[in-house]
Order: sequence, then C-alpha cells, then structure tokens
Amino acid sequence: DFIAKRGLPEQRKIRGVSKVIAVSSAKGGVGKSTISANLALSFARQGLRSGILDTDIFGPSIPGLFNLSGEPRRTENEQLIPLSNYGVKSMSMGYLVPEAGSIAWRGLMVTKAIQQLLHEVDWGGLDILVLDLPPGTGDVQLTITQHVKLDGAVVVSTPEDAALRVAVRGITLFNKVDVPVLGMIQNMSGPVHGLTGVSDFCAAHDITLLGDIPLHASILANAGRGKPTVVAEPESERARAFHRITRTL
Ligand code: ADP
Repeated sequence: DFIAKRGLPEQRKIRGVSKVIAVSSAKGGVGKSTISANLALSFARQGLRSGILDTDIFGPSIPGLFNLSGEPRRTENEQLIPLSNYGVKSMSMGYLVPEAGSIAWRGLMVTKAIQQLLHEVDWGGLDILVLDLPPGTGDVQLTITQHVKLDGAVVVSTPEDAALRVAVRGITLFNKVDVPVLGMIQNMSGPVHGLTGVSDFCAAHDITLLGDIPLHASILANAGRGKPTVVAEPESERARAFHRITRTL
C-alpha cells in the first residue's frame, strides 16, 4: 500500500485561509462542482469571507459557474490573485490555461499545476475555502489530500447504485489520509435516480447525511448561465437546502 510504505507527507496549510473543506465525488457528473459553487456562495451569504479553489485541471468548471474568465493578475512576489464574483473569490486552472480541458497533461505538469493552485494563490484572508476536487479517487486526489491540511471532506453522490458503489472509495481515501469525513450530500434525487439511496448508504456506513438537493431544471439552467442557484433564486427551497448544509459545516 502506497501510503503505508511512504508514510504521510507533511500536510501544509493553505496560506491566509482559516478553514478548508474539500468537496469530492468518486464519479464524474454527479454535480460536485455545482454543489461546491453553491456551498461557497452560501458561506458568503452568511457573512463569511468565502473562496473556492477548482483543482480539476482536466475539466475546470468553476469559471463557467461563476461567469468569470481572464488571466489572474499576480502580486509582487508572483502569487496569483483570485478572481471574484457574487462575493466569492475563486481560482481555477481554467483562468490560467483557458483550454485546460483539452490539454494532454503529463505527470509532472499535473503536479506543478496543482502545487501552484494549492500554494501560490494570495487569498488575502478567508474564513472558509471550498476545495473542489477532481472527480475520482486516484493519484491526483491522493496527492492533493496529502499535501494540504484539510479540515474536513464532503462527499457528493447521486442516489443511484452505480454512484454509491464507488462512493465508498472516496470515504476510504479520506480515512487513509486522516481527513475527517463531515458527511455526504445527496444530489439529483428524484424519479430518475431515486430518493433515498444516499441516506440509506449513510445509515449503513455510519456517515452523516448533510443534505439533499433534488434534480431540478432550474439548477441546471442557473449553472448553465453562470449564476448558481444560491444567487439566481435565493428564496427558493433549493437555495435554502444549501444554507441548511453550510450552517452545519
Ligand atoms: P461534476 O462536478 O460532478 O462533474 P457538475 O456540477 O458539472 O458535475 O454537474 C453536471 C451537470 O448536472 C451540470 O450540467 C449541472 O448543471 C447539472 N446538475 C448538477 N446538479 C443538478 C441538480 N440537482 N439538478 C439538475 N441539474 C443538476
């Protein structure tokens, strides 16, 4: 076992940030980035200095969700300055390399890009940073969780069996690197994927169910036009569901 042989490397704090919560999913397309964006926006609505770090260098989606683009400026000592919208600071490889999703990244490039995102951003003082992990539970996720000090992790899954079968890998990854799993969020519940898959899974594995976000056309539409639900329809039941989650984190 990789970790058993090498021991845990030092987990460094992200400078200028009080608390870091990682949002992960074992599988792509379950709504991890949409959830991450809405959580960061919900923290900001509660008056916290909030930020979001998109570590998915293969398919960054935070620029689109926040309707932001353009090369970040740098401080005198070459730290990247986050881009802001809706009261949330953000950083993503999508700003640095607009075609990031179509690049054939090689191992060393991946490591360098991730190091830069984790340790070369001037957040300028944040109460909370939502770290949007790439989907999956492989080397990249392991590298990130080993190199930064995370205060906790949230695992997003849809209620369908195929997603839940792999969700357990996400939990195992965080246990290995000593990051507390704060709980799971069920996304896209409804007639397509079912209603209770994640809550049943949580009950069986002694995990907290943090919240349930239903499959809803407006969540898709809001994400598509770069204005996530918490800002696009702040009084909706869906926005309230995000606020209930962030109040417990
Ligand atoms: P991931 O980050 O897990 O790959 P995304 O956040 O990119 O997933 O979401 C995948 C797609 O599903 C996006 O088009 C997004 O707008 C949509 N989506 C996410 N959550 C919901 C939901 N609860 N209801 C409807 N559409 C959703």
